[in-house]
Amino acid sequence: MSTDRIIFSRPFRASSELANLGTVLDSDHSHGDGQFTAAATAKLKTITEAPHALLTTSCTHALEMAGLLLELGPDDEVIVPSFAFTSTATAMALRGATVVFADIDLATGNLDPDAVAAVVTDRTKAVVVIHYGGVGADMAGLLALSRAHGFAIIEDNAHGLGGRWRGRSLGTIGTVGALSFHDTKNVHCGEGGAVLLTDEILMARAEIIREKGTDRARFLRGAVDKYSWQDIGSSYLPSELNAAVLDAQLAEFDIIQANRHRVWDGYAAGLPEWARRNDIRLMTVPDDREHTAHLYYLRLPTEDRRDDLIGHLAERGIVAPFHYVPLDSSPAGLKLGRTPVPCVRSAEFSGTVVRLPLWPGLTDEQVSRVVDAVTEFTV
Ligand SMILES: *Cc1c(COP(=O)(O)O)cnc(C)c1O
Repeated sequence: MSTDRIIFSRPFRASSELANLGTVLDSDHSHGDGQFTAAATAKLKTITEAPHALLTTSCTHALEMAGLLLELGPDDEVIVPSFAFTSTATAMALRGATVVFADIDLATGNLDPDAVAAVVTDRTKAVVVIHYGGVGADMAGLLALSRAHGFAIIEDNAHGLGGRWRGRSLGTIGTVGALSFHDTKNVHCGEGGAVLLTDEILMARAEIIREKGTDRARFLRGAVDKYSWQDIGSSYLPSELNAAVLDAQLAEFDIIQANRHRVWDGYAAGLPEWARRNDIRLMTVPDDREHTAHLYYLRLPTEDRRDDLIGHLAERGIVAPFHYVPLDSSPAGLKLGRTPVPCVRSAEFSGTVVRLPLWPGLTDEQVSRVVDAVTEFTV
């Protein structure tokens, strides 16, 4: 049996990446909005069924675009889960909005609609929801609140490309969806992202915001004969080099996902009995959701035992990290945010969660080694 180190994550290599990169470099067109931007965008629209999609330089920038599109400003509040990535909050704070932290549901790690209801005010302009690990959040609860209070929903769907909630594609249920193609995500191009939109008017503005405030996209389509400064914006358009890699990856999306699910299913088959005996919570997926196998996580009864399991696995050459540190108690969270109701479940989830290695190239033998190492541990 091999005792090689099993790393947590390794970026997927798609077969046509290098050929695509050569095509871009030989074409003398490496800036954005060339053939690979178009091809990758078309594939994204097929996968997500989104009416509109725009590649961006990152998910963080896609979230910044959401903040610009919704015209967030200093008078506005944006509700964000405390258990979240920094970008989820900082993209909103960048527009001067007050970040209001709300707690999560321990079953999924996702924003809890009841916690949102407890902190919503007449200044709440948006709610940002993460589909943690690619498992859809409770969108029924959030959509009902959104209708009652008139706030927009921004989906930080960095984990959830191809995931579904009640048959609907994650990232297309709220007002704006954001995707990440960072090399730790299921599909990557080094650094990259996308905005998903259903509203045509927002899409027209998003094209301008992404291109330095100009209508260059309309010009490229031949709709105007020169382009000019139309609105505020920034430089959120990725280069064709990034799009070339992304297009190669999206062409093999089914292979990536099948292999990630193979690993995920291996953990889900090998761990339940051990989990029951040791009071461990395994990752669960509600029946009305299709997940993306972005993560496989467990939760231990206490933080000390979680840290012990991480150490136990490290001794066996297996890298298993914890995850987000709650934002409400972070230095910027204290300065830029408000926490009207303590986010105790975010702290508990953060303190007890551990993620197992998960990437498409893991062999079944390596998955068995992880299962064996985990189940040797007693709480
Ligand atoms: C990775 C990630 C981001 C940031 O993505 P970038 O593309 O690196 O900007 C934002 N939100 C979540 C939930 C993430 O996992």
